[in-house]
Amino acid sequence: MEKTKRRKRNTRQKAVVYQVVLDSSDHPTAEKVYERAKRELPTISLGTVYRVLKELVSEGKIKEIIVNKQSHFEKRTDFHHHFICRECGKIEDVETPLCRYTCKKVENKGYVVEDVEYKFYGLCDRCAQKLGVLQEGSAQS
Ligand SMILES: [Zn+2]
Ligand SMILES: [Zn+2]
Repeated sequence: MEKTKRRKRNTRQKAVVYQVVLDSSDHPTAEKVYERAKRELPTISLGTVYRVLKELVSEGKIKEIIVNKQSHFEKRTDFHHHFICRECGKIEDVETPLCRYTCKKVENKGYVVEDVEYKFYGLCDRCAQKLGVLQEGSAQS
């Protein structure tokens, strides 16, 4: 009986954490996921959130990206890249065909590529504007 109860709780915790990641498009850290999961499940602990996130990553349901030595989590598990703003810390998805070319080069060596991620570091459009470093014409495209 105790065991069934615990398993039920675990399933619920996992469902809530997974839903939080599905609802987030800002690549949250485990701490952010914890804050959001607590609204739904006030008794959940940060340790549980960590464990469940790792589980979901190993099951391929979510993806973990490391930015500035910190783990961030997201629902997208396909090939895509990230832009990271050094001013506000925003992480945004970036689509670029660049990787197909680079992949081919690596695959030509006989390697099997399973994942590719480029990270672009700099200033987002808003921070660039705020700091007055927006380049001529860059806002149009
Ligand atoms: Zn920014
Ligand atoms: Zn992403």
